[in-house]
Amino acid sequence: MEALKKKIIEEGIVLSDQVLKVDAFLNHQIDPLLMQQIGQAFAKLFRDQGITKIVTIEASGIAPAVMAGLELGVPVIFARKYQSLTLTDNLLISKVFSFTKQSESTIAVSAKHLLANDRVLLIDDFLANGRAAHGLIDLIKQAGATIVGIGVVIEKSFQKGRQELDEQGYWVESLARIQSLENGTVRFLD
Ligand code: 5GP
Repeated sequence: MEALKKKIIEEGIVLSDQVLKVDAFLNHQIDPLLMQQIGQAFAKLFRDQGITKIVTIEASGIAPAVMAGLELGVPVIFARKYQSLTLTDNLLISKVFSFTKQSESTIAVSAKHLLANDRVLLIDDFLANGRAAHGLIDLIKQAGATIVGIGVVIEKSFQKGRQELDEQGYWVESLARIQSLENGTVRFLD
């Protein structure tokens, strides 16, 4: 997606060979127009798949997921990372090792929102080693729902997440694929 790649080049900050900071438009300040275009791009890719729910993880997956949900006309569920007093009933629970925080967190979704007949599009802001995606896949499987595809805003293709998901037979679509962040420079795959 050209508008996204342009934004990454212009406003992304390469923090290391492994980490790209996109606080200017995705992870802290959010660019609504770009999010709308991202939602439209995901909707175009997955429109004919009979998606009934979108599942993401708080916080940074929510903006692109909501915009895709708006375009596809389906509800968006975000897995919660923290204990919530209001999230009491019948939880589906998994564990995710966070790439950016380097710590493990428990993620949860209320079973009443994710049903066995749901056809799910999973969306996240980044795909690195695939830990978040695998945690979400685990939750969706616990519900007995079908994972139709995975939509990623920014994929760091040099980390192992994409290859693993491909090998497991998941349909992954990434709107920007980064080949390397070496020498402070973003290089795209295609
Ligand atoms: P994974 O679980 O695939 O290893 O990492 C994906 C998660 O870690 C995403 O939900 C994202 O929040 C965070 N993440 C991974 N790599 C980066 C990065 O380079 N920059 C930022 N801002 N977040 C990242």
